[in-house]
Amino acid sequence: AIKATQVHKAFGTLHVLKGVDLTVMPGTVTVILGPSGSGKSTFLRLINQLETLTGGSIEVNGELVGYKHVEKNGQDMLQTLNDKEIAAQRSKLGMVFQRFNLFPHMTAIENVMEAPVHVQHKSKKEAHDLAVAELTRVGLGDRLDYYPSQLSGGQQQRVAIARALAMKPEIMLFDEPTSALDPELVGEVLNVMRSLAKEGMTMVCVTHEIGFAREVADQVVFMDGGVVVEKGGPEIIDNPTEPRFKDFLQHVL
Ligand code: ATP
Ligand code: MG
Repeated sequence: AIKATQVHKAFGTLHVLKGVDLTVMPGTVTVILGPSGSGKSTFLRLINQLETLTGGSIEVNGELVGYKHVEKNGQDMLQTLNDKEIAAQRSKLGMVFQRFNLFPHMTAIENVMEAPVHVQHKSKKEAHDLAVAELTRVGLGDRLDYYPSQLSGGQQQRVAIARALAMKPEIMLFDEPTSALDPELVGEVLNVMRSLAKEGMTMVCVTHEIGFAREVADQVVFMDGGVVVEKGGPEIIDNPTEPRFKDFLQHVL
């Protein structure tokens, strides 16, 4: 589960998140919608500790993100985590970005094996078997030895998903995973995400794919101006309450 409480983030004087509250239950899919600049990516990056909070708190599976409680002089204090502790927390999360960020000089299977071997110190054999399984899961069992340049954008994005899954995350975060793809390649990536959702993966997806949100989301969240303006079940897409959400939907549909 994820529990964000009054999350604030400022970059210098730019106040980007202004008190975001959000709960994501285990095994559910949350889709975050919102206009450009509303703070969607920043929110995902905070969950994954690619940025640090300026206020509020985030818990992932009951653990405070980025901090731990310590006792000092009989008082309960919060202390920032060290790099190793941050890495341990981050290992529970898999993240997929708009750009695939694959290593161009490595084949699909080498890309997927990289972190299990170099971060988790798995044996080559174990990482290889795992990578074959994850690439097969995303429909690329026949492309193991292809370089990114030899794969379509949709295939590259599926390698990126397999690479995240190979670390056995408890939660997957997707930041507009299909928005850099040619339209005819969007479906294959959404299908992989759909099947992950069916398998019970906890997912938070920033996407403009309204059809996907309608069909797969358990929770839909509309962010604007650094706050959650409206949230609810997928039915809010067809019955928005807030004028800003209505307006946004009219522009994307
Ligand atoms: P988009 O739909 O375009 O991806 P978004 O909702 O993901 O938008 P963010 O990327 O979270 O929006 O950005 C929110 C605001 O924060 C923007 O005004 C952006 O310029 C600013 N911002 C994001 N990262 C930084 C940073 N590292 N330094 C300064 N400003 C930043
Ligand atoms: Mg973004």
